[in-house]
Amino acid sequence: MTLRLRVQETEQIHAHVSRAYPEEGCGVLLGWDRGDAREVARAVPIQNQHEDSKGNRYLIAPEQFLAAEREARDAGLDVVGFFHSHPDHPARPSAFDLEHAWPFYSYMIVCVEHGRATDMRAWRLAEDRSGFEPETLEVLSDGTPGQGGDRGA
Ligand SMILES: [Zn+2]
Repeated sequence: MTLRLRVQETEQIHAHVSRAYPEEGCGVLLGWDRGDAREVARAVPIQNQHEDSKGNRYLIAPEQFLAAEREARDAGLDVVGFFHSHPDHPARPSAFDLEHAWPFYSYMIVCVEHGRATDMRAWRLAEDRSGFEPETLEVLSDGTPGQGGDRGA
């Protein structure tokens, strides 16, 4: 599986998780699922709602998720995944991430070291939910991913 996104969204994600440092930053990825590849058209930054462990946990509240879903629908997009950061930890899913992952969605993890995004990887839950499988991450240097759909503002 391939997850494609533009430099624009990549920079937006990096900016959000850098600002959240040393806490985890998170958000929702909107785009198109085309079967063989998945394309991100928009990244929706979300305020980490975890109560007491924002340094190594994140929580997207149900109403935040619903708002992102609504935004996706209005723009002719789907929710295709989530992103969050690992402050001073590798961009690999934690046991917490595995426990809270849903099937289908792409999980993008950004490693933030000393406030700077240094690594970014995408993962998807294995069918038997025993772990994550890596997705191929493609960052497009220019232009639009795919066609059709509203690129938004
Ligand atoms: Zn995590």
